[in-house]
Amino acid sequence: MEELPFKYLGVPLSTKKMSVMQWHPLIDRILARINSWTARELSYAGRAQLVQTVLFGVQSYWAQLFIFPAKIIKLIESLCRSYLWSGAGHVTKKALIAWELVCRPKSEGGMGLINMLVWNRAAVAKLCWDLANKEDKLWIKWIHAYYLKGQIEWQKRDQASWMIRKIMNAKHIVDQCQPRQGKGPDQKLVFTLWILLNKKLATVDRLTKRGMTLDRDCVLCKSADESMEHLFIQCHYVEEVWERLLRWINVHSNMPKTWTQFIQWCVKNGKGKTVRAQLFKGILAEGVYGLLNERNKRIFEEKSSLIDEVVKRIAYVTIARSSSSINNVIKHRQI
Ligand SMILES: [Zn+2]
Repeated sequence: MEELPFKYLGVPLSTKKMSVMQWHPLIDRILARINSWTARELSYAGRAQLVQTVLFGVQSYWAQLFIFPAKIIKLIESLCRSYLWSGAGHVTKKALIAWELVCRPKSEGGMGLINMLVWNRAAVAKLCWDLANKEDKLWIKWIHAYYLKGQIEWQKRDQASWMIRKIMNAKHIVDQCQPRQGKGPDQKLVFTLWILLNKKLATVDRLTKRGMTLDRDCVLCKSADESMEHLFIQCHYVEEVWERLLRWINVHSNMPKTWTQFIQWCVKNGKGKTVRAQLFKGILAEGVYGLLNERNKRIFEEKSSLIDEVVKRIAYVTIARSSSSINNVIKHRQI
């Protein structure tokens, strides 16, 4: 007896290796998720969140029941990757940053998205654990009743089906399953900054380079073409915002004028755990996010704020998100 006698959410449960075709119901569900109109409207940070949710759902729900073949993991990951970078509901080649890098923990410079390969391994290990401990689950009961037939030692491995073999092979990785850390302080923020520092934010100049002509002036100063360098560094509006924020945190250095200089400047000032460095990183992250937010509000909601309002908003958020030691240093300073 090889087939499990029922389907689960449209996918047949099988002890044999399932063909790619049999995985279509799951792929369709993922596609439906990222093709919905709300998903198409999301920003990068929102998309990262959705990808995380989708991947998490797949892992916590489906991976408890199935062992994913490598091909399916690859397909799900390329769908998520394409959606994350371009908002497309199909596989595109526009991966701005390697997926492997995206999945790295934040402490290692990644986004901390779920790495399916690693997670599936952990899920299989859990199946192995469940099976050994005869947990009260329907499919485990079934495997015990019809397959293992009460054998204490699992024998005849070579004749065992694909799934049972996979589960048995997972015995040695049971202890690799590690609990994930909680959510970071601010997903949106970390993401925007992370992207920025990777010099890959898909503002208009990138889209233009890809052959999509979007003719747009900078909505902040209305006197230059919008580009990455312009939007975060060179724009007069932006220059003034940075100038005031830097003065507020006592960083007396001129804003860099190019990307390369900007990245070097960020690394130099953000190094270490001193109050100054932490404040700098906080302001940088909140500043980038605040500026992008202001730009988006002007484009999508036709609302605009004065420089003073934007500066104050960024400063308040920085105070609100800082640790108390940093807070004590800046909260009385005039912005
Ligand atoms: Zn501008």
